[in-house]
Amino acid sequence: MNVLQVMNLEVVYNDVVLVLKGLSLDVAKGSITTLLGANGAGKSTTLKAISGLLAGENGKVTSGSILYNGAETVRHNPEKLVRSGVFQVMEGRRIFEDLTVEENLRCGAYTQPRKDFAHNAEKVYTYFPRLKERRTQLAGYMSGGEQQMLAIGRAVMACPKLLLLDEPSLGLAPLLVEEIFEIVGKINRTEGVSVLLVEQNARMGLSIADYGYIMENGRIVMDGNGKDLLNNPDVQEFYLGLG
Ligand code: ATP
Repeated sequence: MNVLQVMNLEVVYNDVVLVLKGLSLDVAKGSITTLLGANGAGKSTTLKAISGLLAGENGKVTSGSILYNGAETVRHNPEKLVRSGVFQVMEGRRIFEDLTVEENLRCGAYTQPRKDFAHNAEKVYTYFPRLKERRTQLAGYMSGGEQQMLAIGRAVMACPKLLLLDEPSLGLAPLLVEEIFEIVGKINRTEGVSVLLVEQNARMGLSIADYGYIMENGRIVMDGNGKDLLNNPDVQEFYLGLG
């Protein structure tokens, strides 16, 4: 059973530039699915099409279909998608720097009943104890890794069913990347949330993945389960630097 089915998706920016050229991919319910590709391949665009965030950037889906739990969502706005369980953590974290950690979590929880806040925040603090220690601190003063934790924690507050993560490893030290991926795996298993992960760090992205897709120039060019892709000689040469 797929939580997400993207079929033959085409996306245009500013009415002229065709960036996605018939992209198709599936995310199996409960899985971690990773989307890899070079800079500019269209990975972020794919996530924004799914979460409804394209419109804010002059982007438009011109053809194709996005089925979430079997229902077409291509014309849905981001708020409706968040309410139905689709939540994107944008590249570069985008936390509210002038708010405290806990206030940021409150923002993530705006679609959820108020009475659930304490329970859900405690859940986030269990995944990320460091956020608990810093709950009253302004988010802008936290390290890059802590801010990424907060961005993911804020997403957990929305109780997502499909979590879209755009390059959570960007700019982080290797040890922190490992820690964050481990926690993403834990969230996936514990919350039963399906994850579509975009990564530049191919090795990390594939080692956590149940299934992986590789895109080039707006289309999927290869797919397979995470382990098979990690062992594929072409993937090793072009994405893992082992050629
Ligand atoms: P990266 O790994 O560098 O983030 P990506 O695979 O996520 O790359 P996208 O960010 O989806 O790629 O960009 C795909 C193409 O679309 C690029 O050529 C980019 O310049 C273009 N693009 C992205 N956003 C916009 C926008 N708002 N307006 C116009 N063109 C855009």
